[in-house]
Amino acid sequence: MLSSKKKYIVNSNSGIKAQVRLSSCLPVLLRRPLPPKIQFADQKQEFNKRPTKIGRRSLSRSISQSSTDSYSSAASYTDSSDDETSPRDKQQKNSKGSSDFCVKNIKQAEFGRREIEIAEQEMPALMALRKRAQGEKPLAGAKIVGCTHITAQTAVLMETLGALGAQCRWAACNIYSTLNEVAAALAESGFPVFAWKGESEDDFWWCIDRCVNVEGWQPNMILDDGGDLTHWIYKKYPNMFKKIKGIVEESVTGVHRLYQLSKAGKLCVPAMNVNDSVTKQKFDNLYCCRESILDGLKRTTDMMFGGKQVVVCGYGEVGKGCCAALKAMGSIVYVTEIDPICALQACMDGFRLVKLNEVIRQVDIVITCTGNKNVVTREHLDRMKNSCIVCNMGHSNTEIDVASLRTPELTWERVRSQVDHVIWPDGKRIVLLAEGRLLNLSCSTVPTFVLSITATTQALALIELYNAPEGRYKQDVYLLPKKMDEYVASLHLPTFDAHLTELTDEQAKYLGLNKNGPFKPNYYRY
Ligand code: NAD
Repeated sequence: MLSSKKKYIVNSNSGIKAQVRLSSCLPVLLRRPLPPKIQFADQKQEFNKRPTKIGRRSLSRSISQSSTDSYSSAASYTDSSDDETSPRDKQQKNSKGSSDFCVKNIKQAEFGRREIEIAEQEMPALMALRKRAQGEKPLAGAKIVGCTHITAQTAVLMETLGALGAQCRWAACNIYSTLNEVAAALAESGFPVFAWKGESEDDFWWCIDRCVNVEGWQPNMILDDGGDLTHWIYKKYPNMFKKIKGIVEESVTGVHRLYQLSKAGKLCVPAMNVNDSVTKQKFDNLYCCRESILDGLKRTTDMMFGGKQVVVCGYGEVGKGCCAALKAMGSIVYVTEIDPICALQACMDGFRLVKLNEVIRQVDIVITCTGNKNVVTREHLDRMKNSCIVCNMGHSNTEIDVASLRTPELTWERVRSQVDHVIWPDGKRIVLLAEGRLLNLSCSTVPTFVLSITATTQALALIELYNAPEGRYKQDVYLLPKKMDEYVASLHLPTFDAHLTELTDEQAKYLGLNKNGPFKPNYYRY
């Protein structure tokens, strides 16, 4: 099980890994001018050792967890089920005559464009970046190779990078998550995109290879989600790193791989860990889950939440989001925790802290959010009441011991997509969602606004790494400077017509802060 937990060495005085300054281009983007020299202390992170899944099928290794956990996406307008031809065998051209792409069907571009336009409405920061950088092109000359989910939200990011001056080539980080119409729209507007929903494993690596193995084009930046692209370049084209200025990585898994490379002394370019920036952690984990837990449960079960008894395992960011949403809907919520601090938080927030055994017979829903393994065991599953719903919001499918349910005495009945009834010999059935994989990524949509925050963080990380003068970043993994996190947040405030208070000179002096931030030390927990 890949845990998301990292040990942070945080010491504002002595644990400083590197001093970094924002690139000279950023003041152009910032509404408030930056002071001439802002120093940021970066934090060194240390990881628990975690196994990397290695397997061998058609190519180098099995597709990573991140590439199989499906991001659900907006409804597809076009039914391509009648078209079984592999996109690799099709000759397609966009309206400008280019065939430098591989998507399911270029004719779906118009539908994809509408999806992208809808997403733009909820991605104000990227749109603001585009506007502010109209004269200024902080990514001029950047050649970005990307491997992310290909959704309308990613399309807004890619088109923003393009507007900021970058050339992009893109593949999907997940074999199921590509929205074909969006991929078509991107290809139509000239982005070399190599992705379609339902790629085989061989297709997956072929698409990545088509992004990097191009005559006359070599990437100088990597934007990765899961580490597969980075891995591919390391394995197949190590010389490419001579020209690459940096890697921006979003996922827990990918970041973990980068730290492993760094520890082994094999990381040959600087990398930005976007996953652990405050704006990602707080918004993606807490607020995204607060909204999508209800969506995922509703879509799969049509259930009513009021009065239902729910146990949430783990009261970290994800657990807090789930508990808050369910409490607001009138559910009776129990929490399990191993950490006394989080446990106390749960108590103070008004939840009953229990051991799973104490409530397992009575609850209507069990939700795991721990990032741990075997939190719900076969013994728990045996004791659940009839129709109990079991699902997972944590990183991978190891929190619920689903494998233990694949025994001859139990019958599995698929009742809907992503919904299985597992039936005991006495007729008792439990409702297992998404076979224990992440419920929200498998069965619901993720709010665009949250993705906007993450995408803006990625864009700024690319700008920072691309423009950083030689030597500012070494061959190591960095967190985004806090100033940038604050900037990402500030770009999203106008959506709410929010009015931020500015420090007076006197107040700034009193607090020992620069009026324009950063406003908190790196160890501040929010
Ligand atoms: P976290 O570390 O803040 O919280 C996890 C909590 O679980 C901790 O407080 C820990 O003490 C507790 N815990 C560990 N083992 C436990 C056990 N056996 N029983 C009860 N509690 C236990 O992490 P987080 O940010 O809340 O993320 C949790 C998981 O969700 C991670 O795997 C993360 O990758 C994943 N995640 C999911 C989404 C999503 O959209 N579904 C978004 C972000 C993160």
